[in-house]
This record gives sequence, structure tokens and C-alpha cells, in this order.
Amino acid sequence: MRCKFLKKLDKRSQTHRPLALKCSQTGFDHLSLDAGPSTDLRRTAMEDRAPPVFAFGVIADIQYADIEDGLNYLRTRKRFYRNSLQLLRNATRRWEEQHVMCVLQLGDIIDGFNKSRSASEQALDTVIGEFDKISVDVHHAWGNHEFYNFCRETLLASPLNSAAKARSGSDLLADDIYAYEFSPAPGFRFVLLDAYDISMIGRDESSEKHKRSLKLLQEHNNNPDLNQPPVFGGLEQRFVKFNGGFSQEQLLWLDEVLTLADQKQERVTVFSHLPVHPYATDPICLAWNYDAMRSVLRSHKSVVCFMAGHDHDGGYYIDGSGVHHITLEGVIETRPDSNAFGTVYVYEDQMVLKGNGRISDMVLKYP
Ligand SMILES: [Zn+2]
Repeated sequence: MRCKFLKKLDKRSQTHRPLALKCSQTGFDHLSLDAGPSTDLRRTAMEDRAPPVFAFGVIADIQYADIEDGLNYLRTRKRFYRNSLQLLRNATRRWEEQHVMCVLQLGDIIDGFNKSRSASEQALDTVIGEFDKISVDVHHAWGNHEFYNFCRETLLASPLNSAAKARSGSDLLADDIYAYEFSPAPGFRFVLLDAYDISMIGRDESSEKHKRSLKLLQEHNNNPDLNQPPVFGGLEQRFVKFNGGFSQEQLLWLDEVLTLADQKQERVTVFSHLPVHPYATDPICLAWNYDAMRSVLRSHKSVVCFMAGHDHDGGYYIDGSGVHHITLEGVIETRPDSNAFGTVYVYEDQMVLKGNGRISDMVLKYP
């Protein structure tokens, strides 16, 4: 197991920050050369004279609440609950200038503290109001904080259910599983997963999925508080209540979606609140059955990238199949003078992530 520090070093060694210039012909920002060292990005910038096919925005873990700054659970990181709205504002303004085609919000849009203050609806309205200022569709994944604030039925009827925005007209995989897919442009496909399909927090106590989740956690975790990890290191840490996993039904559905994508020779990017590669996150943030999800992803050549949130420190790893696993740094633990959002430029042969603030620039070659 590689430590987080090594993970970060790897990430930095692959990228550096280029300048961005506005291209008057296309309206897209194009990467230009700076005085930094010769890297993949420099070569890529020279190759990428053609405009991208399209671009999209990404952001994770906004966790807005109208409360004073606080600390994370381990009291090691500061959380800027109010200012997260300003950082979102910075992102939406930039995405408008960049003419992105759509935005992917990877979950935990408002913080669980809103629930105890009876402020969930108001907080959600505030953040959605900010997203409404941009003219393109926003696709929302659901994280643990969505379920701290709302039940599944309420979420399905809320603006956080973005399935109807999928251009292909495809709907949810099932009435009670929030997963869908669509093609943002010919030759490309996006899949949004429900990482709390199997979980305690997203499911009614009387449901089979809740009971199965409780049993699974109790098999791995002896703590009275199941939000406390069972051990202090390694993959077993993931067996906590604030994580979840993917049902067999969802895995089979994804397998079918990816089989079709393989046949059409599409490039697929998968979005989920929970990361599924142990080297792209602290294992305490991993999906319970990350290995089952990875074996589906690995068996399809169409998959090029898996993007997640949840781990506010972020992470990156390219696996043996050449699939890029990106965990985005969380807005909530980002200082007010910094940022945490990205714009992904999608080309025929690669994607280029232009990060802001804590999020690094990255070149994502297709496998
Ligand atoms: Zn989360």
C-alpha cells in the first residue's frame, strides 16, 4: 500500500501548471506553454491545436452550511462552511467563460449540520440557486451528506435528481437506484453511479438493503459507533457507516452499458461519490465493494476515467488497464483564498483536466 504522500508526489510529478489563453475562434481556453520543465503537458499542448470536442466542469464536496468555520471529524482540517458558496461562485463564473457543455457535481453538496438546524431545504435552495446561474445542465451525484439531510424519496423529487437532464432521454436504472447514463457528445458516454445503493444511511431501516448493510458492517466492525473505522490502517478501514457500495443489479446494469459502449467504440467516464481504487484515495473513503466495481470497469476497453469525491484530500492513480482514477479535492476544506474545481477538455485521443487552486492540471491519455 502506498502512502498518501507518495500518491501526491506521483500526481505532482505528472503535471505542472500551464497558462491558459482564450481562443477567440472556439471560445475554449487552450493550454499554452509556460516556462516550466518539458513534460507530457508541454508536448500535449503543442499537439492539441485542434479545439476539444467539448468541455465539462467538475466539483466535489461543497458541503455548504450557513455556520461558522469548523474542523473535520479528526480535528486535523479546517472546514469553511459558508465560504464554500463563494468557491462555487468562482467555479460557475469560470465555467460560463469557458463555455463548458455541462457540469458534474460529485456529491455532498450541503453539509449534514444543516439537518440539526432544520436548514436543509434552505441550504439546498441556496446552493442550487448558485448552480442555476449557469446556462448548462448540472449532473448531481449523491453522497453521504445528501442522506444526512434528506431521505431517498425526497432526493428523487428534488433538483438533485438530474436524470431527466440526460440528453439521450435515458432514465434511472431503477426506481430506487440513482444511477443513469447519457452521451454528452457522439463517441462519448458519461455514467453516474449510486455509491449508496447498498448502505445504512441511504436506505430505510426496514429495507433488505439496510439490513444487509448493517450485517456487513457488523461482520467487519466491532465499534459501537459504526462511523469509527474498525482498524487504524489498511483496506478494512472502509467498513464504516459513512460509506456504501453497489448492488449486483447496479453492477450488471453498468456491465451492459459498458458492453454497448465497447461495441460503439465510445470513451466512457464514470462518476461516483465514492472512489473505487485504493491508490486514488485514503482507504477509509473507499466503496465497500470497490473490487467488484473495479472488475467491471477493467473488463471494458471503453472506460477511460473514474471520477469521485468524498476524500477531501483528493488523489490520483492510473491502473493497469490505463484507467485514470481521479478523486477531486473537496471544496469544504479549501481555504478561501484558493479554489477546488476543474474543467475537463475532451479531445479525440485524450482529456486534459485544467485544475484550479488545489486541483492539479492533468493529461489523461486514453488507454
Ligand atoms: Zn462524502
